[in-house]
Order: sequence, then C-alpha cells, then structure tokens
Amino acid sequence: MANVSDFLSLEKVDAHNHLNLGMRYASYVPWAGFYIPNFPRKMNGLGEMHEVIGQYTRNRSATAKDVQDLVTLSIKDAIADGVTILEGSFDISFVHHCSDSVDKYVELIDGIVKKFADKIDVRPELGMGKLFDKTKIDAWVPPLLESGIFKSIDLYGPEVEDGIDQFKYIYEMAGRLGIKKKAHVGEFSDAASVRSFIEFFELDEVQHGIGAAKDDSVLQFMKDRNIRCNITPASNVMLSAVNSLEEHPIKKIVECGIPVTICTDDLLFFNRSVSEQCADLINANVLTEDQVKAILKESVDSYKK
Ligand SMILES: [Zn+2]
Repeated sequence: MANVSDFLSLEKVDAHNHLNLGMRYASYVPWAGFYIPNFPRKMNGLGEMHEVIGQYTRNRSATAKDVQDLVTLSIKDAIADGVTILEGSFDISFVHHCSDSVDKYVELIDGIVKKFADKIDVRPELGMGKLFDKTKIDAWVPPLLESGIFKSIDLYGPEVEDGIDQFKYIYEMAGRLGIKKKAHVGEFSDAASVRSFIEFFELDEVQHGIGAAKDDSVLQFMKDRNIRCNITPASNVMLSAVNSLEEHPIKKIVECGIPVTICTDDLLFFNRSVSEQCADLINANVLTEDQVKAILKESVDSYKK
C-alpha cells in the first residue's frame, strides 16, 4: 500500500489547476458561508458540474477581493500538498471583477504571485472559455499576454472544433511572445480531436488528452512531438470520463513514452490532491511506485528548465 505521506515531501508540479475552483471543499465552505448539497459527488459529465457552478460557486465570486480570496485558498491548499510549481489558470472573465480593467487584473495576479513566492512557484496561466464574449476576448487578451504576467495560455469549454479558428491569432501571438500553448481536449473527445487541436494551435501541452489513448497512431504522433499531457485522474473518474481509476488510460500514455503530470483540475469538485492521487494510482494498480516517482521527477526537472 502506498501512503499519501510518501509523496507529500516530494517536489511536485500541478499544471492543470483552475485556481478559482482549486481549493478543498473544506477550505471553501467557511469562506463561502454555505454548503453545496450532496457534495463533492460523482457527476455525469461537465453538464452536471456546470449546473453546480451556475447554482452555487459562480455567483459567490463577484469582486476582485473574491477572486483574490479564492486563488489564495487554492494556493494554500497546493502548498499544504507539497506542490512546488503551480501552473494554474486565471480565467479571463475575472477582468470583469476588476472593473473591466486589464491592468487591475494583472496587478492583482502579480500581488498574489509575489505574496507566495518564498513558498511556491506560481506561474499564472491565462484561461479562456470558448463561449466567453468574443468582443471582450479580442479587447482583453492581447494586452493581457503583452503584460508579461502569463507564462502559458489555456482554452476550455465544449470540446468541439466549431469556432476554434477565432482563437488562432491568440495562439500565434503566444508563440511570438514565448508563452506556452495549452488547451483542453481529449477529456471526453476522441483521439482525432486531440491530434487536430495540437496541429491547429501548435500546442506544447494538452490539458487531459486521455482520448488519445484510443489510437496508437495519435499517441505516437504526440510522443514524436514531445507533447505533455497534464492528466487529472480523480476528475476523470468523478466526471465519468473513465469508468474507474483502475481503467484509467494514464498507464498506456506513460508507457508509450509521452511526458505527463498528475494534476488536480478542480480540487473543490474532485477532492484529491496531487499526493493523494499518486498513492491512489499505485493502490489501484494503475502505475507502480517507481513510475509515479519518475513522473514527479521528470515533470519537476522539465518545469525547472
Ligand atoms: Zn480542466
């Protein structure tokens, strides 16, 4: 049996963490002032998750202080888990919470990064929802990228290719600025979609990407391009993207030689930290202890470069 304590003291990366939902439910409740009924619970896909977000969490964050508080809770829970590098996403919509001021949002993020700099390396990622107001994306994203605060970008929302051409220029701009290019794909979508997203946006890393495991030629393509998958096993089980942890395709992806990280996604909803998931994967006979430790070491070494 692997224990969580075996992994707490090891250096770790969390490269797939939505910082507004990245804290424990136990940390969230006292701050929010309410309980979410029957929660955390296994859900049937992203639709059910978004119902909870719409009914409970979204409305609870209305001000810049709320955003700061939520991100702070997430960072503190990452530190408690021994995460040393946190590449976490700050959603574009929170510019609204900063009086529609890009400068104020950048200032808020900069303050948070500096506040925790002696405890954890927080690398801000700009998170963009595919369904967010395109006029605001066009107005806010270029100055946000040019600010220099963001080390990576991520695109999420429905895993469809409709409308992704509207984001192409943003990925080209990120490329010119030396900002890492990531996108959510292959959580529920198939291997072909993973390949087409990587090619279309010239991605460096994929958030999820587990759909690629269904096609060996796509896995080989990712290995050849050295595309990292930032995988979130507990999230995949809780949202029913995989039937069980025992059947999780991370094993196949790792054994194909594709670099991966083990990440939390939304700790509020899925309640398994990086260290806990390391132990879970071993105890479910998905990966060996040596494989898990090699994943942690490779990801930390690679992110430190
Ligand atoms: Zn995610």
